[in-house]
Amino acid sequence: MDYDVVVVGAGPAGCLAAKYAAKNGAKTLIIEEHASIGSPVQCAGLLSTSAIGECEVVLDSGFHPIKGAFVYAPDRRRIRISGGEIKAYVVDRRIFDRTLAENAVRSGADILMRTRAVGIDIEMETRGHGHGRRRILHVAIEGEPDVIEAGVVIGADGVQSRIAQWAGLDTPETILSGAQISTVYDFDDLEFVEIFMGSCAPGFFAWAIPYHGSARIGLAVRPGFGSRSAWAHLKRLIAEHPVVSGKCDSGIAGIVLGGIPISVPQQTAAEGLLIVGDAAGQVKPTSGGGVYPGAVCAKIAGKIAADAVLEGNTSARRLSEYDKLWRTRIGRELVIGRRINEWMARLSDSEINRLVGVLDDDELLDLITRYGDMDHPSVVVRKLLMNRKSMGAFLKMALMR
Ligand SMILES: Cc1cc2nc3c(=O)[nH]c(=O)nc-3n(C[C@H](O)[C@H](O)[C@H](O)COP(=O)(O)OP(=O)(O)OC[C@H]3O[C@@H](n4cnc5c(N)ncnc54)[C@H](O)[C@@H]3O)c2cc1C
Repeated sequence: MDYDVVVVGAGPAGCLAAKYAAKNGAKTLIIEEHASIGSPVQCAGLLSTSAIGECEVVLDSGFHPIKGAFVYAPDRRRIRISGGEIKAYVVDRRIFDRTLAENAVRSGADILMRTRAVGIDIEMETRGHGHGRRRILHVAIEGEPDVIEAGVVIGADGVQSRIAQWAGLDTPETILSGAQISTVYDFDDLEFVEIFMGSCAPGFFAWAIPYHGSARIGLAVRPGFGSRSAWAHLKRLIAEHPVVSGKCDSGIAGIVLGGIPISVPQQTAAEGLLIVGDAAGQVKPTSGGGVYPGAVCAKIAGKIAADAVLEGNTSARRLSEYDKLWRTRIGRELVIGRRINEWMARLSDSEINRLVGVLDDDELLDLITRYGDMDHPSVVVRKLLMNRKSMGAFLKMALMR
């Protein structure tokens, strides 16, 4: 098998990268180790309207609309953030990812299921594609060893990316541990998600997300914060949290466990190779959402990979244009998000109680509603830092630490 671009992994990032490689004229293949796309699910499925737009997926009646959030402090005080409009949807990632894969196929990409990448080499070009070097991808197709030649390999193989490791690229250094269950939950408003801050989810937060008749209750824990696993924290949240325990049914219909990378490596391009999505730590550090940033970067990766192969120059230098372009587009937002996450992670329960108390103010809630954007949290943080009331409270909190 010989392709211009081979994408490893049929998650959202892989499917979009393949779609854009194929659309830009490259003979493209996606390989996926599982027998079914989108499975096992490792996601709460909460996607902003812009994430869905970026993925180029048409709204479906199966998507569950979300208009806002209740944010709970450890002392149970809560603030309501809502602009009245639909801000996000909750989706079934199995169906969502399959739609993305079909879109890639419609654009001309091939897909091989039950095909796992097991190694990668590089060899001198001898035919066809100019003076570049070719990547040799070692694969197991339904367990049988084989090789696939590629001008460019795109590693979209998720948080534990082997492609990045084999290529000698750094992998994300901070990975949150996530755990989630599907169950029944007594939501106050089925168009609102609930967020729980504080030591119930050390270094991050817990969530309750409505999806039609059921709920996805989960949390993530930052490494080095708290002595228990994410799963142990989740069991405790359900059994003991003053709000969640009273609203959550004890029956569990499904369990999701997974890592969420919240730091980006130094380099995401090498000779004849790019990494994208979770493999490249392209995840919002404030929310753990990876679909939006992964989609933005995957489209850039697909186009650059196709252009480079068709020009006959797949050198690391040529492909580093991808690295430059995606950092220009969302790099700053990820860096600011990381700082916000680090600051929030270190707040004690009593500091979070005070912070939520400060934000529980008509003027500040109006500001959050107007400028809050799931995909660009730096905008509202800047507004809060420029506001006399909230800035005064933040300074006081910083001085009291
Ligand atoms: C508990 C939890 C909740 C989350 N909730 C949200 C949310 O609400 N909203 C949101 O935006 N994000 C959420 N995320 C993050 C989101 O799921 C990821 O950011 C997103 O799936 C990353 O997409 P991706 O395409 O980069 O990788 P993935 O979706 O992980 O896809 C990688 C694919 O590569 C395949 N693969 C891996 N290795 C190989 C190999 N060697 N050969 C062939 N195939 C291979 C895998 O089978 C997989 O299909 C959540 C994550 C967790 C853990």
